[in-house]
Amino acid sequence: MICLYQRTIKRPVEIKGIGLHTGLPVKMRLLPAGEHEGINFLRNGEIIPAKVEYANGFEFSTTLEKNGIKVRTVEHLLASLYLTGIDNLYIEIDNEEVPILDGSAKPFVDAIKFAGIQALNEEKLYAVINKRVRAGSLDKYIEGRPAYSFLITYHASYDNDVIGNKAFTFEIDNREDYLKVLSARTYCFLEEVEYLKQNGLAKGGSLENAVVIDGKNGCVVNPEGFRFKDEPIKHKALDLIGDIYLLGNPVIGEIYSYKGGHKLNADFVKALKEQNAYELRYASEVLSLINENQCLDFLSKVSIR
Ligand SMILES: [Zn+2]
Repeated sequence: MICLYQRTIKRPVEIKGIGLHTGLPVKMRLLPAGEHEGINFLRNGEIIPAKVEYANGFEFSTTLEKNGIKVRTVEHLLASLYLTGIDNLYIEIDNEEVPILDGSAKPFVDAIKFAGIQALNEEKLYAVINKRVRAGSLDKYIEGRPAYSFLITYHASYDNDVIGNKAFTFEIDNREDYLKVLSARTYCFLEEVEYLKQNGLAKGGSLENAVVIDGKNGCVVNPEGFRFKDEPIKHKALDLIGDIYLLGNPVIGEIYSYKGGHKLNADFVKALKEQNAYELRYASEVLSLINENQCLDFLSKVSIR
């Protein structure tokens, strides 16, 4: 899915809920923005860009902070913007944390559809990965490499039967997987609940907005079970997409995450920047490169700086 023009929304839309970690009520308004303005949060008079430079908290969610003003748990909203191709948006928020809603990105996507998608006059800019890049260690890492579209693989490895050791590959044009990824809910382990509570986290967490997995007994606590097979791995893919968007542009390339989480996702985005492992290309350039060359030529062309 390569969109030619940058996108915003047609009209403002309001979203209300509670924060997963703070448990506090929050009201958000998504507002249209112009070409090249990017994604920005507006809170207490501060403009906080949704960029990795402002990411500084990663415990069970991703937090942005500028001049002491925080916005927490931005990843599912950012994933919904990535998946609907929204490049420019203001997000006015009246509390510290983005609402968790049902724990997935689906309610944000529904709100964006309700507001309507507006194409702008400028072409979209893609971050085209032009060489191999890696962040992390041997037991947890993320690797990126050149490819013809946006392709991500999340490889989970848990010592339990509910999730186990499995990988899921998501290609953005696969409609069925697209719907599953955006509907995959936040999850946690029953064994973690005590830790979360003691550390002042998950105060708003419930079976309404999270899947709770009983690792010891190999079952799901929620009576309805999973929405579909491998929902937790698909949620990890969703988190990865949201955190990747802290780069500021959608990606053309393949990303493989082995047991990655929010901190590693952000480290990978930083590695892409620090190692000059991508270049920004307008959509028409990306399309013509793909159409003209298809294979090896494309890779060699994108690596010319
Ligand atoms: Zn998540």
